[in-house]
Amino acid sequence: MTTNKQMFKESLEIVPGGVHSPVRALKGIGTPPLFFKKGKGAFLTDVEGKEYIDFCMSFGPLILGHTPTPLKKALKEAIEIGTSFGACEPYSLELAKFIVKKIPFIEKIRFVNSGTEAVMTALRIARGYTSKEKIVKFNGCYHGHTDSMLIKAGSGLAGESETSSKGVPQSITNDTIVLELGDEKGLKELYKKEGKNIAAVIIEPLGANSGIISNSISFLKEIRKITKENNSLLIFDEVISGFRINIGGMACKTGIIPDLITYGKVIGGGLPVGAVAGASEIMDTLAPLGEVYQAGTLSANPLAMIGGLATLKELTDKTYKTLKENTVRITSILEKWFKEYNNGEFSHYKITQQESLFWISTLKDITSAKDFPEDFGKDFPQLFKTLIDKGVYLAPNPYEISFVSTAHDEKVAQELERRLGL
Ligand SMILES: *Cc1c(COP(=O)(O)O)cnc(C)c1O
Repeated sequence: MTTNKQMFKESLEIVPGGVHSPVRALKGIGTPPLFFKKGKGAFLTDVEGKEYIDFCMSFGPLILGHTPTPLKKALKEAIEIGTSFGACEPYSLELAKFIVKKIPFIEKIRFVNSGTEAVMTALRIARGYTSKEKIVKFNGCYHGHTDSMLIKAGSGLAGESETSSKGVPQSITNDTIVLELGDEKGLKELYKKEGKNIAAVIIEPLGANSGIISNSISFLKEIRKITKENNSLLIFDEVISGFRINIGGMACKTGIIPDLITYGKVIGGGLPVGAVAGASEIMDTLAPLGEVYQAGTLSANPLAMIGGLATLKELTDKTYKTLKENTVRITSILEKWFKEYNNGEFSHYKITQQESLFWISTLKDITSAKDFPEDFGKDFPQLFKTLIDKGVYLAPNPYEISFVSTAHDEKVAQELERRLGL
């Protein structure tokens, strides 16, 4: 039998670090990664035949679970149509119409292939539209791996930004300014000094990449106000929150309307789709109408568009209600287990929940990335490995959050209880 260990060994020989995205390597956990051969509903099965209840769910896209029936049906038909034309087709038009109709403030949308690409495009539009160069981001928000967003924390002033990756030129990071979430004062001071040079402020309106960080409405309103007053754009990065907490994401939930919005993850239902959207006046700066260049060989390919639409069509108010109920059921079981397991070995763990997202952590209700202590996550490997033994799979990193799908129903909750010995 091929084992996870053996596959990782083979992978290490021909793939850098054995993986195609770094978090998958389980570095810091102290155990080789699992190789999954199949997903169904709320479950993943590894190459050794062991089955896991999945709470990583590919980091968010799989809102209906693995291989849900409506998606499978749509993709079976789609495969007869073709995988990519590199030309206009009706399928992306249908998805675009669906989204524009559902989300009142979106006038135009362009599809790309990932969240990273969506952010990259939004930033370029902002710079093209405003003819300014600097971008403000917040510590702890993740916006994909485009050069200008790979900036280390805590460098409040222009020119002092430090990259969090080698290979990113200082000249690029000089134009990214990092602030702490919630730092209204810092934002105001920055605008006083640099306002005329700031093309955009980008934020995850619901922070979901350094645990779950709920921004205060007043902070989001302040950003909206100050960007408007200074002719900078406000970009909501809703790659996680869009279509996940409700159809229109945080923009619809808060009524705070950004100039540009980026989507990914759920919008493709597990296929590679991203999107940037906003008002016509701004979106029309994109080529071929405008002078901001953006393109993609595989953008809006029929397979991804049909898969995305099949997923979004399932997302009704009732679906979001079910998702939330599923999540409450699951998290209360986990909380009980934290208290009871092994004389309270994990009793310092708590859960922060937002709709169908939850975060297992020793911290709760944090308001900025400054709240993370130096030794944060030091006993996470023990928790992760204990759950793996029991057939429960979390995202392999203490900063990553968990995702619940419609497939995580009452039966799965009962199975979770059984596996945890409750
Ligand atoms: C995942 C994520 C991205 C990057 O999306 P990819 O599809 O991984 O490139 C960007 N922004 C946010 C908020 C994300 O969660």
